[in-house]
Amino acid sequence: MSFASALCYHFPVMSDCLFCNIIAGKIPAKKVYEDDRTFVFEDIKPQAPTHVLIIPKKHIVDIKEATEADAEIMGYCQLVAAKIAKERGIERGYRTVYNVGPDSGQSVFHLHLHLLGGRKLSWPPG
Ligand code: AMP
Ligand code: ZN
Repeated sequence: MSFASALCYHFPVMSDCLFCNIIAGKIPAKKVYEDDRTFVFEDIKPQAPTHVLIIPKKHIVDIKEATEADAEIMGYCQLVAAKIAKERGIERGYRTVYNVGPDSGQSVFHLHLHLLGGRKLSWPPG
């Protein structure tokens, strides 16, 4: 991967990363929320009535590639998810998921927290 020269909100944009390009506005997405550190948008293939992705603006591949410097933003994404769950009235039961690695189903290698809710969620997940 190569770093593009463009900077987005002080975070470097990985030119060949789908989610970096969504943050930069180069690829359209249904934005739900944005602040200085995170960007939230509707999943293109929703698996529940609420299925949004909370992503750090910093390009982090996944949890196993993250460093201690990334710990705060990974937790902060959970707080953003809780705020959106409250706004959407799905606090009776929702799930936040970080998929890690191909066997988990991870298909985009920019850290993203799934927020799923609005229906009964079975356990264990598939
Ligand atoms: P994962 O499988 O955990 O890597 O999750 C990637 C998620 O990104 C999937 O749920 C996809 O449906 C979603 N996705 C892929 N491309 C887009 C896109 N262009 N806009 C919104 N969501 C996307
Ligand atoms: Zn990225």
